[in-house]
Amino acid sequence: MPELPEVEALRRSLDGPVSLAPIERAGPAHLATLKTVEPPLRALEGRRLAGARRRGKRLLFATDDGELMLMVHLMSAGRLRLLAARKRGPAAPAFQLTFVGGARLVLTEPGKRKRAGVWLLTPAAAEQELAHLGPDALGLSAAALAHLCRGERRRLHGFLRDQRVLTGIGRAWANEILHTAKLSPFALASELDAEALGRLGEAIESELERGIALRGQGLSDEDVYRVHGKLGRPCYVCGTPIARVAFEEHTVFYCPHCQTGGRKLADRRLSRLLR
Ligand SMILES: [Zn+2]
Repeated sequence: MPELPEVEALRRSLDGPVSLAPIERAGPAHLATLKTVEPPLRALEGRRLAGARRRGKRLLFATDDGELMLMVHLMSAGRLRLLAARKRGPAAPAFQLTFVGGARLVLTEPGKRKRAGVWLLTPAAAEQELAHLGPDALGLSAAALAHLCRGERRRLHGFLRDQRVLTGIGRAWANEILHTAKLSPFALASELDAEALGRLGEAIESELERGIALRGQGLSDEDVYRVHGKLGRPCYVCGTPIARVAFEEHTVFYCPHCQTGGRKLADRRLSRLLR
């Protein structure tokens, strides 16, 4: 489930290598993966990429002539790798770029449902495609965060995950950030005082940086997450078992001692079963 730290670690690993040689062949691409038809993929052939950039959870590869932008969104299960020349790759990649010399940038996605996406865009179209996104969660200033929270009647967990508010944070890192900030996932964003806002801002930055560093070392979910997915395991700060509230689409994990003043919140999925 790649979020900002995972995508940023990947971006850093691809930034240099993707610009080493021009693109020889663009494609094949799975019909469901390639989201655009114009410009055609082959318009990339013969051009060179100017490294890798990132906007929230999306990877952006601009051509060095500034005319085209390849955008990749891994969604929940996509995986993007650079394979050295002659290294065996998957039989049916969801998308592939082959560089002069034989290295390949390969996108795979297990399972039948293809949700990861690749877009080939002009710079103007790319700008439009990204216009709905809020500011990047990494490097957000305290003043900008305070501004985003003002008048925001939503609960913090949902607020942090809304890509139109700020972009890059999903379910897992919302859990990690709120635990570090010692804030309830269900507190209203608008009701944070200056001190709590300060803690939230620092936690966003420190947790995303921690994630980038650990993912850069190749660590897995088990070793990266401290709260997310750790139901019943002792909180690494106070030892209280981590609790959860499960919703249809996601699960909130939190420490009742560190975050909700000792209160355990009703697990809605469980409550529904008992009704
Ligand atoms: Zn705790």
